[in-house]
Amino acid sequence: MTQNPLIASVFRQEVLAMSAYQVAHAEGFIKLDAMENPYGWPEELKTRWLAALRDCPLNRYPDPQAQRLVQTIRAHDQIPDQHAILLGNGSDEIIQLLLMALPPRAHVLAPAPGFVMYKQLSDCLGIKYQGIPLLADNFGLDLSAMLAAIEQHHPAVIFIAYPNNPTGNLFDPVAIESIIKAASGLVIIDEAYAPFANASFMTRLTQHDNLLVMRTVSKLGLAGLRLGYIAGNPEIIGQLDKIRLPYNINSLTQLSADFALTHKALFDQQTQQICIERTRVFNQLNNITGITAYPSSANFILFRTPDTLADGLYAAIKQQGILIKNLNPQGGLLKDCLRVTIGTPDENNAFLASLKNALRIPDSIHTETH
Ligand SMILES: *Cc1c(COP(=O)(O)O)cnc(C)c1O
Repeated sequence: MTQNPLIASVFRQEVLAMSAYQVAHAEGFIKLDAMENPYGWPEELKTRWLAALRDCPLNRYPDPQAQRLVQTIRAHDQIPDQHAILLGNGSDEIIQLLLMALPPRAHVLAPAPGFVMYKQLSDCLGIKYQGIPLLADNFGLDLSAMLAAIEQHHPAVIFIAYPNNPTGNLFDPVAIESIIKAASGLVIIDEAYAPFANASFMTRLTQHDNLLVMRTVSKLGLAGLRLGYIAGNPEIIGQLDKIRLPYNINSLTQLSADFALTHKALFDQQTQQICIERTRVFNQLNNITGITAYPSSANFILFRTPDTLADGLYAAIKQQGILIKNLNPQGGLLKDCLRVTIGTPDENNAFLASLKNALRIPDSIHTETH
């Protein structure tokens, strides 16, 4: 908090009580902390992309509806015409839009641990946020606790990340269905990791008026563009569209995302490679004494380290030039847990070697790969 009376009198309590979202300084590191796709584009594709950008009219405001991009997304994700689509400056902005539209005493519900922005943005808007703990053994949904919280608080919005971040698992779709049916408000299925998951609620949109499916191009390989989208009931999307800033998707993003998504084959290939590596890293991690890796349907793996070692291991891995995510400070179910994003085979090998080194286990990994 602040001692400065000017600051204290100007800003809302909620804002004063918050701390800024921290992003680790990553320059010079092998970056395996933020679920980015490690691969770039072939030169030939870059040349064609730059040619497409050449004539982008930067003197003009962008298309406020981004109509062409919306059509491309509709085709890319096979979203039927009866569902509306709203674009955001990252899906983070869509979460913010949803929460901004809620009445002052609204409740928001999500499983915990979950994606940090649900809570961060609720806190900043003064909305009551409730995290319902996942089951300790497998990070599954505690369905009866979720249903009890729905009955008690009637949350206006329930966020369910599918697969979940930071645990990486897909919740039981039957349990999610019960939650959608029990909810008196909206249920947002956040499919940020859809490219790696082989599971989706998109086809169930038609069955539920209160269901919305949110996605992003960030984890697919376009994190720098800042583009997310949400699909569902046109009446709900219409309300959100009223509070969306008119030009929230800039011209360069509209053009670049449209170009990229029409070259689906490249991302399919990269995604496949990442999934192959995910299996390999998962097996390698579980072969290390003292390490438990959790099954993942995303492009990262959560793993548990021996009691009290997480902070030290994280620091020792960082010391070796590899940045991952330390979740131990969040405590609860994440005590002793670290999270690594799947990188290129070489990056993954460097990470595995650094972890073994930090645990003082001789590294023999280079004899097992390629
Ligand atoms: C990364 C992530 C997002 C945010 O995506 P952006 O489009 O980059 O803002 C949303 N939800 C989950 C679960 C995520 O992991």
